[in-house]
Amino acid sequence: MRIVFMGPPGAGKGTQATRLGRDLAIPHLSTGEVLRDACQAGTKSGREAAAYIDAGKLVPDETVLDIVVNRLDQDDCETGFLFDGFPRTVSQAEVLDRLLGEKNLAVELVLELSIGTDELISRLLQRGRSDDTEEVIRERLQQYDALTKPVISYYHQRDLVETICGEGNPDEIFARIKVAVDKVGK
Ligand code: ATP
Ligand code: MG
Repeated sequence: MRIVFMGPPGAGKGTQATRLGRDLAIPHLSTGEVLRDACQAGTKSGREAAAYIDAGKLVPDETVLDIVVNRLDQDDCETGFLFDGFPRTVSQAEVLDRLLGEKNLAVELVLELSIGTDELISRLLQRGRSDDTEEVIRERLQQYDALTKPVISYYHQRDLVETICGEGNPDEIFARIKVAVDKVGK
């Protein structure tokens, strides 16, 4: 199955996507994690990405698409995949459609984790990553509203979106996700 996880920063995409990837035995790709690893490794592209991430801005499409293209080319993605944090702009979504279309494939399900802003902010402040300061969080939320929400509308037009309440304990949320996945089948 080909699944895209969406939701604002701090919605719990990473936690739930890791779990669902294991459960369905399909590869899980978090563009955020790959970018953070590159920052840690101190490569040229990592250093460039770090400047955007620490400012709460989206990393340029070109950098992110490189990561995705490389991952999609690996054999284990033939059975399906789970993207978390990608696509984050409509243009990224269009490229993904094109890449999949070339292989006669398509996104089958978009899981949107929804959660109130106050809960988000308190989770992020607790997590305390370098991009989790109040000012950077505000910018990330703004980027989400301006650039990523339109991606959800884009998938709504194809009736692919299942919205899941992302509040409660991780087991409860996972159970809700499983219901949505089972509905789509496969
Ligand atoms: P979570 O719900 O797992 O807490 P998050 O939004 O806090 O998610 P990541 O998805 O790990 O965090 O993204 C962290 C940062 O990496 C983003 O703020 C952005 O700068 C960059 N990034 C990740 N994915 C993309 C993407 N598809 N396009 C552009 N930038 C990205
Ligand atoms: Mg994440």
